[in-house]
Amino acid sequence: MYTEGTIRERIRKILMETREPLDAYTIALEVGLDPNTSEKEVYEHLIHIAKTIRRQSKGKLLLYMIPPQCRNCGYVFKDLRKPRKPSRCPRCKSQRITPPLFKIMEV
Ligand SMILES: [Zn+2]
Repeated sequence: MYTEGTIRERIRKILMETREPLDAYTIALEVGLDPNTSEKEVYEHLIHIAKTIRRQSKGKLLLYMIPPQCRNCGYVFKDLRKPRKPSRCPRCKSQRITPPLFKIMEV
C-alpha cells in the first residue's frame, strides 16, 4: 500500500506500475481508501488523471480504460464518456456488470 504523496499521485503511480489493469475497488484498496464507499472518488481522480497525464508526459503516456461489460450477455459499454460502473445492462437488464479497468501505458 502506498502512503506517500496525495491520493491522486498514488493512484497515478499504481496505474503506471501495475501489469494488469485495475478496477476502482482495487485502486481504492491500494491507496488506503475504503473500497466500499470510495468508488466515485476514485473515478473523479481518474477523470483528472486522464486529462493531465498526456500533457504532463508530453504525449508519451495515456490512461487506458477497458470498458465495462455485461457478464450475462457480453454487452460492452463502449460509449461511456466518463469512467463509471453502469448499474444495469441496456440489452438484457442484468445487473452483473464487470467494472471498467484502468492502466497507464506508453503511447
Ligand atoms: Zn447484458
